[in-house]
Amino acid sequence: MTAMDESAYAEYRRRRVRRLKKIILIVLALAIIIPLVCSIVFLSLFIHTRRELSDLQNRYDELLSSMEQLRDDIAYIDAPRDVYSVSDVTDSQRDASETDLTPDMPEEAAEDEEEHVREVYLTFDDGPSIYTDEILDILAEHEVKATFFVIGKTEDVAVDAYKRIVADGHTLGMHSYSHRYSQVYASKDAFVDDLNKLQEYLYEVTGVWSRYYRFPGGSSNTASTVDMSELIEYLTEQDITYFDWNIVSGDAAGHPISADTIVSNCVSRVANFNEAVILMHDAADKHSTVEALPRIIESIQDMEDTEILPISDDTFPIQHRE
Ligand SMILES: [Zn+2]
Repeated sequence: MTAMDESAYAEYRRRRVRRLKKIILIVLALAIIIPLVCSIVFLSLFIHTRRELSDLQNRYDELLSSMEQLRDDIAYIDAPRDVYSVSDVTDSQRDASETDLTPDMPEEAAEDEEEHVREVYLTFDDGPSIYTDEILDILAEHEVKATFFVIGKTEDVAVDAYKRIVADGHTLGMHSYSHRYSQVYASKDAFVDDLNKLQEYLYEVTGVWSRYYRFPGGSSNTASTVDMSELIEYLTEQDITYFDWNIVSGDAAGHPISADTIVSNCVSRVANFNEAVILMHDAADKHSTVEALPRIIESIQDMEDTEILPISDDTFPIQHRE
């Protein structure tokens, strides 16, 4: 081997070593980068999937709870009684007592009495629903305030709905967290737990400490295994006023009813009362209520000396039990 051959060989080896080094470096770099990129991709996929899963879980829970509620409602409606009819106590006590008092009143007071403005309270149970916004839009268009007896829902749209109810100046009332008769009325403790859960949740979401309650099925329901007077007593202790109703829109019927029927159910009886509390529902299967609402409001606004108001501390509580 000549000196020339040797130096050429050495050069060849150096180059080979350099190339090998480069290859090793590239392989090393790839060995780090590829798994890193893969982990990032998998991680984001994992997070995304988990989010979707939890969304699905929420929807599943929601469906399950609606199903249970429906089952409760069916069991409840099947029972031989008519919860949503107007009980015998409907003519509010105040109406009766005022009539009694009138003859003894000085003339001026009696005149005041004649000028008494009829108060109508639109109340919506069971919301928020997919229609809450539509209902709120209609109320806003007509510059009317109403009362929403809501249940506990945690999806973003429901949270927004609670907030909008309050922001729009309506009264936020409670209608139990679960709305499952079998749970709410299982025992006094169960009732108290459910009530606290809803009251605290609404406070957290809206900053409003609600003090108005509507019993699921009304105070005259017979689904409760607890004596209703015990629950009423508890509400009184908590400074919570419960409201029933004296006019039914009829939208709680098992079968869908037309907007026309709802309008006439609501409007035809308003004149019978000094305080009319109309029971309606804010629920996914009750769009005819939404369709009926503008006409209900307009008809009532057309009545003389009649005002639509949200429930407040000044509202005489219409209650089915004495
Ligand atoms: Zn209800």
